[in-house]
Amino acid sequence: MHMEKRILVSGGSGFLGSHLCERLVAQGNDVLCVDNYFTGRKRNIAHLIGKPNFEAMRHDITFPLYVEVDEIYNMACPASPRHYQHDPVQTTKTSVVGAINLLGLAKRTGAKILQASTSEIYGDPDIHPQTEDYWGNVNTIGPRACYDEGKRCAETLFSDYHRQHDLRVKIVRIFNTYGPRMLPDDGRVVSNFIVQALNEKPITVYGEGKQTRSFCYVDDMVDALMAVMATPDDVTGPVNAGNPEEVEIGELARRITDKVGAAASIEYQESPVDDPRRRCPDISLINKLTGWSPKVPLSLGLDRTISYFRDEAAPGASLHSL
Ligand code: NAD
Ligand code: UDP
Ligand code: UDP
Repeated sequence: MHMEKRILVSGGSGFLGSHLCERLVAQGNDVLCVDNYFTGRKRNIAHLIGKPNFEAMRHDITFPLYVEVDEIYNMACPASPRHYQHDPVQTTKTSVVGAINLLGLAKRTGAKILQASTSEIYGDPDIHPQTEDYWGNVNTIGPRACYDEGKRCAETLFSDYHRQHDLRVKIVRIFNTYGPRMLPDDGRVVSNFIVQALNEKPITVYGEGKQTRSFCYVDDMVDALMAVMATPDDVTGPVNAGNPEEVEIGELARRITDKVGAAASIEYQESPVDDPRRRCPDISLINKLTGWSPKVPLSLGLDRTISYFRDEAAPGASLHSL
């Protein structure tokens, strides 16, 4: 029988967090969504408001939080370069001070706590695909460092609260994830290309488009997060989660324009500073621990995401409303 739990999701009104809240609510858990709405939207969770087992709270996790819960998913942190570079000091504070507060909460309540870490902790990696025992290649003072180093420090804090205070922790290194509810203007590649193609604007490929990413559909990622949360207490991670189907960005542009059916041209722009050249997860560890592997191929996930953005762009729909 499934036991109902009290679950805190920080960043719960964001892209990944809102899908996670939805699933946890559907399972019958008592879900508390905590978000400062920096990149999250109330409309992402509007369909959950009013359910007896869902509650939303405006709160910034860089401040202490006193609530009683059994499990915590720490998803709070802007994830797209455009947003995390908007206020880099706040980004680092969210990852570091935010982690300390939620770990303090977990320590007081005995809650199990999962950290949404990132493939960015590998920086511009020297080994492919990336395995969890690789320590990474991060520029500590570049424009991406506020995110990368904040997330690396959060992993350190999770590991030390586990060793020092016996906390039950899980660290999941999330690789690029996409799907409905991505912000149309957050600058990430999948949303950018789809919105550009739908509007018949040039597709902005940075650099030569030879850099690669591996894209995981959001439903698969939610499965992965929940599967890792359910592992025995001796599994702390870090554990990679992502779809190992690696694609060049130029190829992604072609696939999206083909699907949208637009005669969009490609506009090559300058490559961002410190842009990782290749990224692909080795997912043997998560597969061994939980049996998880992604089910939604890129082509199907793109179809679903394109149809979401088509609806969003339909007359009467506002892409920017809360
Ligand atoms: P998102 O920006 O949609 O969600 C982040 C949420 O956190 C937003 O709702 C935002 O308002 C909230 N938030 C930010 N700072 C906060 C603060 N100080 N206090 C409270 N709430 C705050 O991004 P996402 O793609 O859903 O990412 C969710 C998590 O997963 C992030 O921690 C991100 O680093 C991690 N992640 C995502 C990806 C990806 O490809 N989507 C990849 C790796 C890691
Ligand atoms: N904290 C919190 N909620 C709690 C318990 C703690 O937000 O329910 C915060 C508190 O502000 C503290 C931080 O978590 O600064 C770390 O807590 P911990 O117990 O590890 O450290 P201490 O209180 O000893 O500094
Ligand atoms: N990218 C691109 N055009 C865009 C947005 C991004 O070519 O309009 C590239 C970007 O340079 C990077 C890749 O796509 O190499 C993924 O970028 P994103 O910001 O989505 O994720 P991240 O770099 O954090 O993995």
